Amino acid sequence: MFIDSHTHLFYPDFNSDIDEVIHRAIDAGVNYFIVPATNLETSREAIQLTERYDSIYACVGFHPLDLASVNDAALKEIEELSSHPKVVAIGEIGLDFYYDASNAELQKEIFKRQIEIAVRRDLPIVIHTRDSMDDAIFIVEECTAANPQWRSAFAISGSRFPVWKGVFHCFSGDAATAQRLLQSGFIVSFPGIVTFKKSAAFETVAKIGYDHTMVETDAPFLSPVPHRGKRNEPSNIPIIAQKIAEACHASIDDVARTTTFNAKKLFRIGEPAPPVFTYTLGGALYLNLTIRCDADCVFCDRKGEAVVKGYNLKITREPSVQEVIEEIQDPARYGEIVFCGYGEPTIRFDAVKEIAAWVKSKGGRTRLNTDGHGSVINKRNIAPELQGIIDSVSISLNAADPEVYGRLMRLNGKKYHQAMVDFAREAQRYVPEVVMTVVGMESVDIEKAKKFVEEEIGVKYRVRPYF
Ligand code: SF4
Ligand SMILES: [Zn+2]
Repeated sequence: MFIDSHTHLFYPDFNSDIDEVIHRAIDAGVNYFIVPATNLETSREAIQLTERYDSIYACVGFHPLDLASVNDAALKEIEELSSHPKVVAIGEIGLDFYYDASNAELQKEIFKRQIEIAVRRDLPIVIHTRDSMDDAIFIVEECTAANPQWRSAFAISGSRFPVWKGVFHCFSGDAATAQRLLQSGFIVSFPGIVTFKKSAAFETVAKIGYDHTMVETDAPFLSPVPHRGKRNEPSNIPIIAQKIAEACHASIDDVARTTTFNAKKLFRIGEPAPPVFTYTLGGALYLNLTIRCDADCVFCDRKGEAVVKGYNLKITREPSVQEVIEEIQDPARYGEIVFCGYGEPTIRFDAVKEIAAWVKSKGGRTRLNTDGHGSVINKRNIAPELQGIIDSVSISLNAADPEVYGRLMRLNGKKYHQAMVDFAREAQRYVPEVVMTVVGMESVDIEKAKKFVEEEIGVKYRVRPYF
């Protein structure tokens, strides 16, 4: 299922066939519609739509190119309208210096005043920018810093990510800007522009991935290829999602689940995703046996939300071997069965061995994703026990340097780095494939790690993206 996170269904373009538009979208798997307004009048219209359709939610506010009727009374009414139970954000608001920079100061003032409404109402904002990214970032970061209570009630304790305060819709910036926005508590959404030839947005999403994004049509504008020039509508969302999947070498299901999770989280609609013991990604089945770990990596969100591509991995109890086997059903249906999750699987080494042996007996392929501390955790060399039941081991090297390793994983670097290297060397003797991975963070020397893995340990090397 999908959520069209930005669609102007109040436009006259939809007057004659809105029912059909909604039904076509639902048939295409689009279950919710977020309708941002552009002025006071359209704010009222957006709210009226929410009263006609359960699946529609509204945002209220003044678009930067629609400020002719803005005044104190109008802004007061926007604030009043924002108490409607189906208003989920203030938007779309922002800055547009492409069409008109003559009223830049007024645009900035109205943008800030509407953020203040969002702060008072504890709502997120939907931001429009054009030729104004730097100014918009300055303003949202300034308002965020000045109002620490804004959305703080929704902060997830222990998360490495700040709570989301809004979305930069129709995002057209580069990967570095997207990263900065995420660190400031904002996500980005992509429209049909990703399907255009030589689209910078396509390049950006290919770099940043879809983990912190949403999809939108911006209907009736910006129809994706092959509908360019025609009226856009929410049923085109799967075309956009498909293109994002292509950019990220992912499946459309993964993009759908992730972007839907993100839209529900930002706008606080629908049911939260329940925790899972097993989950599919890219043709493989992942087993989430535990959320316990002997490390505490700075880049890990295990203690926070523990979500991976729309899957909630924050289990409140550990599954039994039998439960996991029942969920796997037929291992041969999957490319591989992977022991992985927001925890260290070798903490449950007996369960790993039992499930892996069963998977092998049913003709499946197995992979163990581990921090490489299994022998320390289990107080014996566990590598020989992997023989015949594990086809591939993937070890997080994290850093070639023990001191950096210790800092990243927040443990005794010298002791655990040595244990991890020893395990990698041992595992090669018993497992057909051993890969070591690093997370592509600034503080990690990727080339040094590659040399270390390939020349000193003699196994395969892979960089995992950090975003
Ligand atoms: S080893 Fe893995 S699960 Fe454990 S804290 Fe580090 S990244 Fe998270
Ligand atoms: Zn819009």
